[in-house]
Amino acid sequence: MIEAKDKQYIWHPFTQMKGWLEHSQTVITDANGIKLIDSNGREYYDAVSSLWVNIHGHRRTEIDQAIIRQLGRVAHSTALGLANMPAAEYAEQLIKAAPAGLTKVFYSDDGSTAVEVAIKMAFQYWRHQGRPDKKRFVALEQAYHGDTVGTVSVGGIDLFHRVFKPLLFAPFYIPSPSCYHCRLADSPASCNLACARQLEKLLEEKHHEIAALVIEPLVQAAAGMLMSPPGYLARVRELTRKYDVLLIADEVATGFGRTGRLFACEHENVDPDFMCLSKGITGGYLPLAATLTTDRIYNEFLGEMAEKRTFYHGHSYTANQLGCAAALASLKIFSDEQVIAGLAPKIAAISANMAKLKEHEHVGDARQCGMIAGIELMQNKELKQPYSWEQCIGAKVCAKAREYGVFIRPVGDVVVFMPPLCVSPDDIDLMLGVVARSVEEIC
Ligand code: PLP
Repeated sequence: MIEAKDKQYIWHPFTQMKGWLEHSQTVITDANGIKLIDSNGREYYDAVSSLWVNIHGHRRTEIDQAIIRQLGRVAHSTALGLANMPAAEYAEQLIKAAPAGLTKVFYSDDGSTAVEVAIKMAFQYWRHQGRPDKKRFVALEQAYHGDTVGTVSVGGIDLFHRVFKPLLFAPFYIPSPSCYHCRLADSPASCNLACARQLEKLLEEKHHEIAALVIEPLVQAAAGMLMSPPGYLARVRELTRKYDVLLIADEVATGFGRTGRLFACEHENVDPDFMCLSKGITGGYLPLAATLTTDRIYNEFLGEMAEKRTFYHGHSYTANQLGCAAALASLKIFSDEQVIAGLAPKIAAISANMAKLKEHEHVGDARQCGMIAGIELMQNKELKQPYSWEQCIGAKVCAKAREYGVFIRPVGDVVVFMPPLCVSPDDIDLMLGVVARSVEEIC
């Protein structure tokens, strides 16, 4: 019944609807902890945190109650001309938890808009500075920052972004700093961060035209969990500072504990000029996003109305009170339960499973950054020869895992594992055991 209505009326994201209509589909009706439950009562481990959003599990009493309490007062009031309590309280808490120098919070609704806001602020900042020539952006090959026109412009995934190129502004691209796929050097031990050297060359030549560099710190998520070598992010910060290029850290996927720290930038003591957050911000309950920035940027937008320094950007649901109440409750769980400190045995369990998976003849790479893992499947591991696109091998492995009760998603031929942070080491062993078995049966 529901499936039929879905098929009749809904156009799903990132989905070839012909294939969707041809197959039977799962309808989720309930959830509990790290499990989703379908309309037939069947349970599935949520091994991708409902697309990287869920943090403390489904139906967490503290978050449920915070939303219910807020519903008893007011669900939403506009942020245009009005302030509200949960938004102000949360902004204060978030700034205290964020890297040094970030002092202001601009709310929006999802990861794409969080990055879109940073791009527009960076662009406008240089105009206020009397430097309209600084209007271009640097992006990484394989980058993914969302699906709005601005964020697609700084995207670098051919499959998603190429069709829109005639509609977009063109950034400067630098190589993706992924050691497994590196074309610049033979070995990470001897490369001396050749990928960062490419950025240095670009900035030496073009810095006077460049407003900002946009980066997913440590992990390029939608590219297939591509992980940068130690020192790369710190070097990017050093170079952008040297050449007066703003740094936009897109922590939409990496934020809120995924990398083993609250924010990925912390691993290399990086203080960006903008930090973009969404996904895990409400613990995976409600759509909310935040773009954090510094006094340097904020002060440049202050002035009399006639000076036209206002940032003319906002959304109907900006600073939504329910979302901010959920975000406050989620952050409180982080501190009450010492969530970050408790990740060590879970990270170790993922590592042990990655080491085993790597031995499989069709697993080219099994990489991990904290609670994020990617298992890259290869037709021929020695030659690093991928499967053909038509084989849809990643999708087939994930379909098999679903038969065994684990809901997991691929990006291309990379099986992504990103469970809620509340997962136990035993659950990790179980889920990755199912992935290993599925790889064995399909590849
Ligand atoms: N930035 C990064 C790094 C992401 O991984 C994503 C989504 O996967 C986005 C931005 C876009 O977020 P949203 O889907 O909430 O618009």
